Amino acid sequence: NLSKRMSEVPIKPPVEVKYTQLLIDGKFVDAASGKTFKTLDPRTGDVIANVAEGDAEDINRAVAAARKAFDEGPWPRMTAYERQKVLLRFANLLEQHNDEIAALEAWDSGKPYQNALIEVSMVTRLMRYNAGWADKIHGLTVPAHGPFHMQTLYEPIGVAAGIIPWNFPLPMYAWKVAPALACGCTVVLKPAEQTPLTALLVSQLLYEAGLPPGVLNVIPGFGPTAGAALASHMDVDKIAFTGSTETGRIISDLAIKSNMKSVTLELGGKSPFIVCEDADVDKAVELAHQALFFNQGECCAAGSRTFVHERIYDEFVEKSKQRALKRSVGDPFKEGTEQGPQIDEEQFNKILRYIKSGVESGATLESGGERLGDKGYYIKPTVFSNVKDDMLIAKDEIFGPVQTILKFKDLNEVIRRANATHYGLAAGIFSQNVDTINTLTRALKAGTIWVNCYDVFDAALPFGGYKMSGHGRENGFNGLLNYLQVKSVCTTLVNPAW
Ligand code: ADP
Repeated sequence: NLSKRMSEVPIKPPVEVKYTQLLIDGKFVDAASGKTFKTLDPRTGDVIANVAEGDAEDINRAVAAARKAFDEGPWPRMTAYERQKVLLRFANLLEQHNDEIAALEAWDSGKPYQNALIEVSMVTRLMRYNAGWADKIHGLTVPAHGPFHMQTLYEPIGVAAGIIPWNFPLPMYAWKVAPALACGCTVVLKPAEQTPLTALLVSQLLYEAGLPPGVLNVIPGFGPTAGAALASHMDVDKIAFTGSTETGRIISDLAIKSNMKSVTLELGGKSPFIVCEDADVDKAVELAHQALFFNQGECCAAGSRTFVHERIYDEFVEKSKQRALKRSVGDPFKEGTEQGPQIDEEQFNKILRYIKSGVESGATLESGGERLGDKGYYIKPTVFSNVKDDMLIAKDEIFGPVQTILKFKDLNEVIRRANATHYGLAAGIFSQNVDTINTLTRALKAGTIWVNCYDVFDAALPFGGYKMSGHGRENGFNGLLNYLQVKSVCTTLVNPAW
């Protein structure tokens, strides 16, 4: 019946596309070249809209607007309380328009509408969290060894750039824009070419909330053109990037070779999810399933190496297979859909190539392994057992609905194998044993460790990677520090006795 569902006409998304131009200096404008590109519906490959294609010249215009808004405009100069009020009004507007925003997101990205709605509420919370910090950021008075008054001032870093991916367009937008604006920076953002629409829609709401012109500029376009121009721009003071490790390296290079702008990187992962001997198998199967298949498997933090203790391995594999077979894959607008289509043809083909490589390298294909239906980019939930550490499917980030299950015998062995990767974004532990949990949380080299849960994000909890999964942390107070300069001020005391 899954195949039958795929042959149905896609449900019409309950939303219209309002904004398709570049947003520069508070106005929607065409690209200087007049060029546009197509953003596609992942359910069918049909065109949703033609979107203005920003290039180096448009990046120059946007950075000039952001520079002017920072150097001369009111935003960094208004009181933090006034900035906070704009961000809080924006959060209220997000709530009022949540249906429209979520529908546009589900249409452009293929993620289930219900999940997109949850993301809008996460973004709302994130805006309020960062708005709350705006008037609580301050420096210190420092005790001096000598007749001086010493203090630190926290200043906004300047023009901040963000380059974001297509898997979580709205949360990634918020991770970049919210702390930057709370600190008093101005911003140029480049959304991913696959998902440019929601960034334009919510940015218009931010202006309706009272943002002064030029404080936020949004330039849809491609990576090697618009993205590279932003990363190498001499007038950008900071760049934050989320995406693949390869592109992160390019951006880091461009930043160093231009003006050595400060860089935050949130990159790929191959995160272990470790199911210990004492685990309740049914619960562990469900959590491991969600850890991998959530968001079509298109998660940098996906629990993409499921390590299972040998004592429960066979039962775990059989139940994981049954769970994958039950996963409801279909139109993102259909109620009850757990998994929509992959984002585009390129990712779809890449995932199918990895599945082929898994079969060829001798892993056991338990379920899925092929496309679903004959149009759009749907892939059947795929489970591999008997996966070995040196197989490509156990080493590379697949970014799709492909679970790889590996067997382990003891804790030291699984620690060694879990850490034997260039990545270090996240890890999951499933156990009730406090000693096992404490050992693993300390031994695993990853920026976030989820114990008996997975993919729990919070505006207040820092997120970022060890090793080649990135550099720096976003969210929490650590996230704000990326957008601040610390200035030290030292003043002679004429009368130190007092
Ligand atoms: P993916 O390959 O999954 O699309 P990327 O890391 O390439 O992931 O894309 C994430 C973001 O980085 C997108 O906004 C994309 O346009 C941008 N990007 C891609 N290549 C470059 C580049 N050479 N310079 C700057 N940005 C880039």
